[in-house]
Amino acid sequence: MNTAKATVLENFNAPLATRDYPLPQPEPGAALVRTEMAGICGTDVHLWKGELPIALPVILGHETVGHIEQLGPGLDKDWSGQPLTIGDRVTWTSATSCGKCYYCAEKKQPTRCPNRRAYGIGYRCDEPPHFLGGYAEFHYLQPGVNVFKLPDDLPTESVIGAGCALITAIHGVERTGIQWRDTVVVQGAGPVGISALAVAKTAGAAKTIVIGGPANRLEMARRFGADHTFDIAEIKTPKERIDIVRELTGGYGADAVLECVGSPPAVVEGMEMCRDGGRYLVLGHYCNAGPVSFNPHVITRKQLHVIGSWSSEPRHMKGAIEFLRSTHNQFPFRDMITHRFDLNHCNEALATTASWQCAKSVIIPRLARA
Ligand SMILES: [Zn+2]
Ligand SMILES: [Zn+2]
Repeated sequence: MNTAKATVLENFNAPLATRDYPLPQPEPGAALVRTEMAGICGTDVHLWKGELPIALPVILGHETVGHIEQLGPGLDKDWSGQPLTIGDRVTWTSATSCGKCYYCAEKKQPTRCPNRRAYGIGYRCDEPPHFLGGYAEFHYLQPGVNVFKLPDDLPTESVIGAGCALITAIHGVERTGIQWRDTVVVQGAGPVGISALAVAKTAGAAKTIVIGGPANRLEMARRFGADHTFDIAEIKTPKERIDIVRELTGGYGADAVLECVGSPPAVVEGMEMCRDGGRYLVLGHYCNAGPVSFNPHVITRKQLHVIGSWSSEPRHMKGAIEFLRSTHNQFPFRDMITHRFDLNHCNEALATTASWQCAKSVIIPRLARA
């Protein structure tokens, strides 16, 4: 086979197009992977709508699992040092940092590396090696990629069901330093909120409160062990929601509040849900949703720690794989996948994600049609 199919974002807000591109031969340190499953992330909807500045055309998809088809010379081990061979089932970090710049080498903030580019977001597909996104029959892994061999007892559905939300949440929760017996509020019940809940619980959170919607997402939060869930469609005002959190925390507020919403007013509300001296994580604002007015006096008076977290590092992917494997009975990430589509139905898959009909849609290039 010399060419393969990809689904391509050529114009914002327009249907994705199916294109054939020549398959690349792996150069030293690279690999060609046959896509098994590609997740659709909420970010893909933002990209499709043109809400983030990217150069088109692009093959979307930055949460992908596949099988190694060809290995370039020199790529014989994964990020953890396990041997790699043809046929291995692997995943990889969507972005790679340079390891040499001020932020990578000196300040140890590799997610802020200015040389970072992400598969499925930051590469044009009209030039070789073309296949740098998940919505395609094949995915090319460039030299320097952080690739991870998946253990046989970890289903692909778990890895993609967790998707980039889990590694984002692991990084964010790590920065909050949640401690044993902490009370934790999660604002938002989307994939990042559900993941943050799971990570906070394993970090030691004793009581967890999830505030979000709609009802099916809150039901998922309860399956993931949320002690209390509140629907913002039913408890409509910030004051009521803040009062509920205070009531459930002896009048003080939570030790940590994790914002996983991406809506600016949620930040103002969430800070008020913290106890004095508590920690507030702003995790959901991957897109620039604009400003909000608030009174900084709150931060001083409450002695708040306000924390930001951007994307994730390779070690978070390694941690996620071990976490998914060891907690699959407690956290049903594979059940997050509710809709499956083949490559010819990527537009339906994106529309399903955009309308919040589903917890998670995925692309399976070789999905057998009923
Ligand atoms: Zn994503
Ligand atoms: Zn760098």
